[in-house]
Amino acid sequence: VKASGKNGYRFFTPDMNICYTKRISLENELRQAIPNSEFELFYQPQVSINGASIIGLEALIRWRHPTHGLLNPGDFIELAEETGMIGTITDWVLAEACRQLAHWRSMGFSDLRIAVNVSPKEFERDDMVEQLSRFMSTFQLPPDSLEVEITEKILLRDTPSVINKMKTLRERGIRISIDDFGTCYSSLNYLRQFPISTIKIDQSFVRDLSEEHRISPIIQAIIGIANGFGLHLLAEGVETHCQMQTLHALGCNEMQGYLFSRPAPAEQIEQMLCHTISH
Ligand code: C2E
Ligand code: CA
Ligand code: CA
Ligand code: CA
Repeated sequence: VKASGKNGYRFFTPDMNICYTKRISLENELRQAIPNSEFELFYQPQVSINGASIIGLEALIRWRHPTHGLLNPGDFIELAEETGMIGTITDWVLAEACRQLAHWRSMGFSDLRIAVNVSPKEFERDDMVEQLSRFMSTFQLPPDSLEVEITEKILLRDTPSVINKMKTLRERGIRISIDDFGTCYSSLNYLRQFPISTIKIDQSFVRDLSEEHRISPIIQAIIGIANGFGLHLLAEGVETHCQMQTLHALGCNEMQGYLFSRPAPAEQIEQMLCHTISH
């Protein structure tokens, strides 16, 4: 191991070294992101077509990196998971989402709810449910104003601890939605076992809907499953009018996507709320 400049050691070849030091510096910067207040939550509206209104908001994390600009979760969540920093980040996300929701509800948007993304590994954490309950009581939020989004992958683990956590959340009234539904080839059997509130139709299936292809057997099957199990249904990644109309015709009334709004900072969302919801 050779010292190489002010912030690192050279382990491998020069080429690998570039990649390695990049990762190390990103890792160090990630460690500073919370103390430096560089994380921000963007929010994307979830709308109901019937009422043409905003029913909820999905919180999506962004990192205002000091030199790289605004980073999407795809640029850093994996690193956060690998280095164990995801725990601190998840706690920050939960607290911030609760704080923001409490603020909006106090402005009079009292039916609004927020959906937060929780990585499968984080969901398995022992103090997950308690932590969440703590934040919700700190901000005096009713349990059904929060929805936890987990991907289907978690259900593949099928451990008693996962089921128990989900049950506890549901007993407390917190909603659970299954993100990216249909992409994981997991058994439909879990729908009977797990206390799920909502399934989110993955954007890859929505993308298949076009002027020429208004019929999608997969989407029809998913809608049938949701109805059969009495689950809420929300389609994500809706970008065109055609997709919206087709989904609506098929019986899906809740949607999210660029057609309605891109994820945006809280101030912009607040203006949108003031214009679309009378309070
Ligand atoms: P996701 O939960 O499936 O979120 C949907 C992603 O699709 C978001 O990307 C959103 O910006 C994007 N999107 C929304 N509408 C449309 C549309 O109409 N068309 C297209 N093409 N894309 C659309 P984003 O914000 O980059 O987030 C990516 C993923 O990162 C999320 O996927 C989620 O799994 C994860 N993520 C986001 N925030 C958090 C967080 O706070 N914690 C954790 N653990 N993961 C997060
Ligand atoms: Ca999500
Ligand atoms: Ca998704
Ligand atoms: Ca996804």
